[in-house]
Amino acid sequence: MNDMTQTAPQSLADWQALAAALTLESRAYINDTFTDAADGATLTTINPATGETLAEVASCDAADADTAVAAARRAFDGGEWSQLAPAGRKAVLLRLAELMETHKHELALLDTLDMGKPVSSSLGDMAGAIGCLRHHAESIDKLYGEVAPTGNSALGLVLREPLGVVASIVPWNFPLMMTAWKIAPALAAGNSVILKPSEKSPLSALRLASLAREAGLPRGVFQVLPGFGHTVGKALALSMDVDCLAFTGSTAVGKQLMQYAGQSNLKKVFLECGGKSPNLVFADCKDLDRVAQHAAGAIFHNQGEVCIAGSRLLVENSIREAFVDKVLAAAERMQPGDPLDPASFMGAIVDDTQHARILDYIRKGVEEGARLRTGGQALDGPGLFIPPTVFDGVTDDMVIGREEIFGPVLSVFGFDSEEEAVRLANDSDYGLAAGLWSQDIDRIMRVTRWLRSGQVFVNNWAEMDQTVPFGGVKQSGNGRDKSHHSLEEYSDLKSVWMTLTP
Ligand code: NAD
Repeated sequence: MNDMTQTAPQSLADWQALAAALTLESRAYINDTFTDAADGATLTTINPATGETLAEVASCDAADADTAVAAARRAFDGGEWSQLAPAGRKAVLLRLAELMETHKHELALLDTLDMGKPVSSSLGDMAGAIGCLRHHAESIDKLYGEVAPTGNSALGLVLREPLGVVASIVPWNFPLMMTAWKIAPALAAGNSVILKPSEKSPLSALRLASLAREAGLPRGVFQVLPGFGHTVGKALALSMDVDCLAFTGSTAVGKQLMQYAGQSNLKKVFLECGGKSPNLVFADCKDLDRVAQHAAGAIFHNQGEVCIAGSRLLVENSIREAFVDKVLAAAERMQPGDPLDPASFMGAIVDDTQHARILDYIRKGVEEGARLRTGGQALDGPGLFIPPTVFDGVTDDMVIGREEIFGPVLSVFGFDSEEEAVRLANDSDYGLAAGLWSQDIDRIMRVTRWLRSGQVFVNNWAEMDQTVPFGGVKQSGNGRDKSHHSLEEYSDLKSVWMTLTP
């Protein structure tokens, strides 16, 4: 095991030293054992900031999924976790949160090396992941069932029970934080959880497995199956013995998962998918410099690889020219740098495929006649870096104005009226997040109600807390992560009728 608990790295050199000392777990974690894939297959995970291979990781397939599902079912039916008093589950999950805290630098480093995000951002993710574990651990022994108001001849009890075996399939953009958002409520509720991390970022999930074992999660209650979506992901989704698919990822794959559920056992499918989030700036908003800074951060944070990226900036035409200049100035301060440098705001793009996809969208934007104001070219290697890119004069018929690019590319639209702003904002298949900048309280209330979006940020971008649900509407998904509402995704209601004999 790595001993990275002694020092708090401060500088690029400190992080490089920690990276050099790292030993990586590359095996799957199935039924309390670290193991190779049944057929011995591996996948290569690279550091996108350097192009270097980090590890050959077990690439699981259907046989591994079957073994893990059977172990998860045995664990669930055995009751060691599923029937444990909530206070008992709380104690174990708090221990896991404590271990994550102790190893947070190592966990943050793994995410940074694996997918290229700046290490300061990864550390922020760790705080979010640990906070999520603690929140659900602390809340689970404070939830009560119900006695229904039925009348005196019978007693109607409404109990909340775990679902059984939950497969959590997660993306690469916030590897450990997305994992925590899924596994914390699922485990707290008493389920057995099989985690499938993205093939692009499996390393922190495998480290988490060893911490979960150390924390005392019983055999089979938490397992990690690295591998591809079309192999092990699909096998889990088609399994007749998985009760719930908890998914975060693209809308296209979310749709496939619903089909797999229909083709198999009608498992519950809970989706957090893509976005093309509008950020509405009205001329009456206060402090344009601050708003521009936030508007740039909303798209360039995490290299734009964020589900709620504010990728469509809608600006009232009377201030548009001046406001875009301020956004460009803010973007200039957000150039990519070495992800291990704590001063870097942006890091590397996750892999060649995503890098090529982003550049392809930029090419389309130019071809469609949008006005490229900054960026647009990949930086010279080694490593996969794309600078902040801003297109102005985007219209709602352009591909870059409609499709999720998932990279540091901002599309600026102009509008002349509140109605036009709302129409543009809602003219999207997605409905994950929206921002609204104004000082007019009547407008804020009106527009907030009209926006078809799972969350609306008023005079901020991406305010977050464990107590507030996170999720989308339309093709951005059908579930909620975080807060006590997420427990509803991982539990069912059982109604119990007790006749009272007179
Ligand atoms: P993706 O859909 O390609 O992959 C997500 C996960 O699904 C991965 O683990 C992948 O291996 C797996 N998968 C792929 N095909 C599968 C299949 N046929 N069967 C089962 N599993 C399969 O997405 P990605 O590229 O990893 O992540 C980017 C996407 O995630 C973006 O669209 C982004 O908006 C979205 N996202 C959404 C949220 C949210 O909370 N709404 C958060 C983060 C990311």
